[in-house]
Amino acid sequence: MDSELRSQAARYVQLLRRSGKKDAWLPAGLTRRLPAAQASVGTQASASIQPSTLRSSSRVSVVRSEAGQSPLPTRPNPQSSIPNPIHLPSGSKTERLAALKKQTSGCAVCPHLAKSRTQVVFGVGNPEAKLMFVGEAPGADEDEKGEPFVGRAGQLLTKMIVAMELTREQIYIANVLKCRPDMPRNASGNRKPTREEMDACLPYLRAQVAVIAPQVIVALGATAVEGLFGPQKMNMTRLRGNWRELDGVPVRLTFHPSYLLHNQDIALKRLVWEDLLAVMERLGMPISEKQRGFFLKT
Ligand code: URA
Repeated sequence: MDSELRSQAARYVQLLRRSGKKDAWLPAGLTRRLPAAQASVGTQASASIQPSTLRSSSRVSVVRSEAGQSPLPTRPNPQSSIPNPIHLPSGSKTERLAALKKQTSGCAVCPHLAKSRTQVVFGVGNPEAKLMFVGEAPGADEDEKGEPFVGRAGQLLTKMIVAMELTREQIYIANVLKCRPDMPRNASGNRKPTREEMDACLPYLRAQVAVIAPQVIVALGATAVEGLFGPQKMNMTRLRGNWRELDGVPVRLTFHPSYLLHNQDIALKRLVWEDLLAVMERLGMPISEKQRGFFLKT
């Protein structure tokens, strides 16, 4: 589409959006290519949030690379065509999160997951959290308990949080996908969520971010990064150590704790720890000399 035509079409779409028209009447291919309406989800007290405003943002920010890599354009994943309008209620953060949790618990946007899950794993932690961790999807343990990161990877995540001199009660933990990806009968392990599943679920996470308004998010692993920002050209070794931005909130990319469980290399632990040190600095947390030296070879 020619750029003048595109910007005219975008202005027209925004006008219609402002007058309350939904995107459903536009071909999905067209809405995907147009900038989304400006929506301040972070400050909305009570609003019906359409998938287009939640999933995409016309803001393009720049990754601050600490590994000497060139800056990358970054924005939330704008690809989804699955309708999942959600309603952000008014009230305190606790009330808004509780209402959001209630909405999420009845979600059937992915009918196969609604059928296979034990329960929706919404998220856990402090509604006033300054720091939020985002993983990919619940596993079997999380599906059973209804809480993210309670299995082996979760225990390691808890250790990482404690090393930062924080507790799970002070922060907030959630996943891009709120349901355990379904598995063939009698199969063990977990499968990676599909793009469609993550796209359909992302509005819930973005609504959580809008309510909690954390100062920093940590994205754990390649799948979480893909769920938040769409497919990536680089692998996690190159992505980690960088900042991105989700709806105005800085997002630090790092390895998933389950990757650390499979690779016991101290150098790898140090890289993740350096990401967490950068997060602590960004949050203005005190850092002791001892903390600065964790996982350095002696
Ligand atoms: N891995 C994740 O990404 N999330 C969980 O909740 C558990 C394991």
